[in-house]
Amino acid sequence: MSAITMRELTKVYPGGVRALDALDLEIADGEFFALLGPSGCGKTTLLRTIAGLEVASGGSVRIGGRDVTGLPPGKRDVAMVFQDYALFPHMTVRDNIAYPLRIKKVDRRSRGSKAADTADELGLSGLLERRPGQLSGGQQQRVALARAMACHPQVFLLDEPLSNLDARLRLEARTFLKRLQRELGVTTVFVTHDQAEALALADRIAVMEGGRIRQVGTPTEVFRRPANTFVAGFIGSTPMNLIDARVHGDELAVARARLPLPDDARGQVTDGERLVYGIRPEYLDYSPTAVPGALTGDVVVVENLGSVSLVSLDVPTDAADAGEEAGGAGRSSVQVVVSEGGEPEPGDTGWAVPRPG
Ligand code: ATP
Repeated sequence: MSAITMRELTKVYPGGVRALDALDLEIADGEFFALLGPSGCGKTTLLRTIAGLEVASGGSVRIGGRDVTGLPPGKRDVAMVFQDYALFPHMTVRDNIAYPLRIKKVDRRSRGSKAADTADELGLSGLLERRPGQLSGGQQQRVALARAMACHPQVFLLDEPLSNLDARLRLEARTFLKRLQRELGVTTVFVTHDQAEALALADRIAVMEGGRIRQVGTPTEVFRRPANTFVAGFIGSTPMNLIDARVHGDELAVARARLPLPDDARGQVTDGERLVYGIRPEYLDYSPTAVPGALTGDVVVVENLGSVSLVSLDVPTDAADAGEEAGGAGRSSVQVVVSEGGEPEPGDTGWAVPRPG
């Protein structure tokens, strides 16, 4: 069992930066878990504190039920893969992979055969006598993973594992990493600021901001049911539309439109209540002809994103429904994803219709 439990974990760096702020988090045994958030939110600090490379200022870390808060990295049974892989340039691939075994005083013969076995699993067998400088970025990454795997740790900690690879290799390495993690079933925590990577790889994601966790959930949960406007704005290749709204019986008054109250809001809100209505551009359909009750406005920008376009509508809102976010100006920008061939022209009037469900 190698679940990781953090309780009120706090890290204050010299100089007073509170990088982790009484953070609570549980990562299940065998889970592939992503730490996601903007630059400076504390992802790397959290990973390094789990590894024991940073000493916590308060709170605790438990791995597999054992309190490791005061233990040095070598006693935690974790392996960390760094962003730059941190391979020894003067050592061969074989010696790099075997290095942690040497530190653990495993005898030379077993070291060699274990390194060769691990290299074999990662498709590195033909490269054992090369040095890191003679490998591609993707191969170096595999050597770093092999070195982490050689000791069969309870937990893998990966810091931005794919960021040094070019776009094509990154996709390949993503698939490889996911398959490897499934096969090994080792609890794995990885840091990324790339939400597409987190959504594609992770069983669950923690979205962080300012040393705290803003939401923990499966990729589907954080994408479809963001817990707050921070997560809603951070997740998704196009930001979620967030529009001031008011509950009106069993409808929502959004701008001048009347939309059905989302199912999960029924019973949770009261008539007349003001709230923020969030809907992803992908869940709106564009119509060039009037649709009763839908959001409507003038097309201001049409951005070509490849197979789809992102259409921005300038939607007038009633003064009473325009909150501070709209600057009280009585207008909201609403974005809609439109598939190829259906794009309007700037200046057209269009309707944005929420898809049911
Ligand atoms: P990035 O995505 O840019 O790597 P991050 O989310 O991993 O960011 P951290 O590197 O954990 O963020 O940093 C969290 C905060 O702690 C930041 O404000 C950072 O400036 C600060 N910080 C990090 N390391 C140190 C340090 N050694 N001394 C002082 N402050 C630090």
